[in-house]
Amino acid sequence: MKTLRLKSAKEIPILGQGTWRMGEKASQKQAEIDALRLGIDLGMTLIDTAEMYGEGGAEKIVAEAIAPYRDEVYLVSKFYPYNASYQGLIAACDRSLSRLKTDFLDLYLLHWRGSVPLSETLSGLQHLKQAGKILDYGVSNFDTDDMEEGLSLPGGEEIVANQVLYNLMRRGIEWDLLPWCKDRNLAIMAYSPVEQRAFVDDSKLKDIAAKHNATSTQIALSWLLHQDNVISIPKATNLEHVKENRAALDIKLTKEDLQKLDFAFKPPGHKMSLAMR
Ligand code: NAP
Repeated sequence: MKTLRLKSAKEIPILGQGTWRMGEKASQKQAEIDALRLGIDLGMTLIDTAEMYGEGGAEKIVAEAIAPYRDEVYLVSKFYPYNASYQGLIAACDRSLSRLKTDFLDLYLLHWRGSVPLSETLSGLQHLKQAGKILDYGVSNFDTDDMEEGLSLPGGEEIVANQVLYNLMRRGIEWDLLPWCKDRNLAIMAYSPVEQRAFVDDSKLKDIAAKHNATSTQIALSWLLHQDNVISIPKATNLEHVKENRAALDIKLTKEDLQKLDFAFKPPGHKMSLAMR
């Protein structure tokens, strides 16, 4: 698996697996575990989860899926903004570690900005890092002004990533946030990379997909995988989707393909406020 070197010098896979909507239905449990394990076997060892997903249910699914593989997995979880106080965050992390049946997270993210002062959250994150409970920390759904503020605070220089909505249909961050982060060696983790199935029947992708013997969704994911400094975390429970997502990494889009995609899915021409799911 191709990796990206974080600001902390740790390596992170550029293609992983999301888990939103997992851990919600008991009837889906085995299918979700099987999908995550297949993804890990295929090299998608980055797993992204959050205390929010299934209110802890997704973290429990992840725990079962990764139990035989913990050393190979790059594990990311996120905490609610209402748990972002110094003590709240330490307690939330302990609960996540317990559900995930592990003693450390590779990366821990503030899920979105809330009312707790960022300086307090950063100090809690530093404490967790010093205690060895997390190896790195970052943020999610932060626009450029939030990033500027975060980086100006004590502990802000250790932020390594920002997880945001980014895909071929949602290119707003290219205006400023993406280059701003790249200039500072901060990784972008692109969530909803396949826009929750919206590319499946997109006629604008059909020709390029046929040329590469791929699906339209694979072309959209491949486009994202061609972007510098970006990590993609598609969620898939269907095993065919898992295989397709991994195979998207092997698609080599030509300069002409990329130009056609730019024409069909225009990059932003002005600042757009950060879209959030
Ligand atoms: P997504 O990954 O863009 O889309 C997931 C949906 O697409 C599922 O219905 C899945 O179906 C389907 N799918 C996956 N691969 C496919 C393929 N190759 N062909 C056709 N359909 C495919 O959306 P997402 O779950 O919103 O985002 C991914 C992850 O990002 C989340 O799971 C979560 O970990 C993270 N996220 C973070 C935030 C945040 O605020 N930080 C917000 C949203 C998401 P099946 O499941 O049936 O295979």
